[in-house]
Amino acid sequence: MSTTKKTDPKKQEKKAEGSQALQAVKGMPDILPKEEGWWKSFRAAGATVAELHDFHRIETPILEPAELFERGVGAATDIVEKQMYAFRTKGGERVALRPEGTAAVMRAYFEHHLGYFASPLKAFYEGPMFRYERPQAGRDRQFHQWGFEIVGDGDSVYDVEVMLATLAIFRELKFPAFTVKINSMGCKVCRASYREKLKNYYRAREKKLCKDCARRLDKNPFRLLDCEEEDCKALRGEAPIILDYLCQTCNAHFKSVLELVEENGIPYEPDPFLVRGLDYYNRTVFEVWGVGAPHALAGGGRYDYLGELIAGRAVPAVGAAIGMERSIAFLKSATPPVALSKERPRVFFTAVGDQAKRASLKRMEELRRAGVPVVEALGKRSLKGQLKVAGKLKVPLALIFGQKEMFEGSIIMRDMVTGAQETVLLDRLVEAVKQDLKKKS
Ligand SMILES: [Zn+2]
Ligand SMILES: [Zn+2]
Repeated sequence: MSTTKKTDPKKQEKKAEGSQALQAVKGMPDILPKEEGWWKSFRAAGATVAELHDFHRIETPILEPAELFERGVGAATDIVEKQMYAFRTKGGERVALRPEGTAAVMRAYFEHHLGYFASPLKAFYEGPMFRYERPQAGRDRQFHQWGFEIVGDGDSVYDVEVMLATLAIFRELKFPAFTVKINSMGCKVCRASYREKLKNYYRAREKKLCKDCARRLDKNPFRLLDCEEEDCKALRGEAPIILDYLCQTCNAHFKSVLELVEENGIPYEPDPFLVRGLDYYNRTVFEVWGVGAPHALAGGGRYDYLGELIAGRAVPAVGAAIGMERSIAFLKSATPPVALSKERPRVFFTAVGDQAKRASLKRMEELRRAGVPVVEALGKRSLKGQLKVAGKLKVPLALIFGQKEMFEGSIIMRDMVTGAQETVLLDRLVEAVKQDLKKKS
């Protein structure tokens, strides 16, 4: 290495520190204020559906014992093997950023004996999940999920209720079109014989498999069914399907789910190769696809064995999780465009002069306490500058509070569409504004 100029390394470091702005961790995007409308609409839809279907909010920590996911999701799954943010704390605990929500809900179910309080327990959650994967469109390392779980009952009506609640969110958001892919993963008994058949099928064709598949053939042959590599995809066409190996009880359960799906008018297609990438699923598995969307928008299924894996006690349960970023991206791209729910009409507050500005906080607070959203641009000195902002925001009503008005105990109301102005007494302000907005809405 040769340098022509001698530089003081200490000086250089100082400069670098001061001039380089820090950026977010790769794959962990910010969600900016301009996105607010979409997220607000999603959360409002979720809350409405949860209430209508009697699901109740549960919030579990972002950090859990790493073992929870190793035991629950499965040590040989991609999620745990490759994608989990696991680390040791200063105190020596092995913890992980949660890669999914279900295992934690189940942990809380046992820890707080939630089965005693509701049978079945119907819970929903919402929050960030973390998976270390190659960042690309639709796959971030931090993403959000909205999930529904019904714990404590194995009846097929609950499999379909979870689907209905999931779809109700999409319907509430006026999603253009979606379809549900459904399959059964059987139970311990019948899945074992299918697993053997599948292994034998692929072992006979081992040379054609991609590296990943060759490696996971023994540990987790189901994963081969959803490999994206062309050669593996081609082999799948002839692979045995689980439906031919389901035991009588699993078969009856699956049949009953499909009947209920049809009775409830859920648009669906059976997909015999649908396997979800988590060990805990059994019987029903499903995914919701937006028509034309590149990824599934939601996925779920029954997980009757999860309780046994994490607490040594089998409790039948079923759930689903919706990818919020993916769903919002899909909504944005929809044609015709999806309209966001309308916001309440707002009032723009302007003040001219220092004293009026100081007094305006109190006036705005009065309006806000009465439930009227108020916006302002008090940082701008001139009335013209402030009204320009009001015009940009397309606010229907502006209030003008100047020195003169302040001493007279009044304020000017300006209709931002017609430009008509009217002076009202401050004592009557809240009432007058409410009346005016009512007329305008
Ligand atoms: Zn079975
Ligand atoms: Zn493969």
